[in-house]
Amino acid sequence: MEKILISSCFLGNKVRYDGGDNLLVNTTLKRWKEDNRLVVICPELAGGLNTPRAPAEIQAIGNTIVVTTITGQDVTYAFKQGANQALLLCQKHNIRYALLKESSPSCGSSSIYNGQFSQQKIAGQGVTTDVLRANGIKVFSENNLQKLIDELTLS
Ligand code: SF4
Repeated sequence: MEKILISSCFLGNKVRYDGGDNLLVNTTLKRWKEDNRLVVICPELAGGLNTPRAPAEIQAIGNTIVVTTITGQDVTYAFKQGANQALLLCQKHNIRYALLKESSPSCGSSSIYNGQFSQQKIAGQGVTTDVLRANGIKVFSENNLQKLIDELTLS
């Protein structure tokens, strides 16, 4: 059965920057898990960061994407490493679909925070989503999970 890449925090794993999770309760998701269809990653941990960690947001400097923490540390390298790890997992498992947490600087797929640490969101996508989409992988979030379920049912 086709596998799906999923943000680790959706499964209740305490991998968020603040030590929390983003548990997503859904009957189809539960079945995918039981059927061993989920390939789990937290790109930020895969990139070498720890939990807890300082919150980070994407800053666009010209055409260059930089990720910095609230204290000004440049964590771009770790974010890119995590994105590459996610892509490698997708390639290993022939994954075409990912379900990633909206608005995260790694996993966001239609919105991210604006880089000012002011709780304001803007249109955009996270570093991992960017890499996956550039490689033909469709990325969905908790907000359009049903669309993913429909696509997988039809495919
Ligand atoms: Fe969840 Fe992605 Fe953030 Fe990891 S990087 S805590 S998987 S949203």
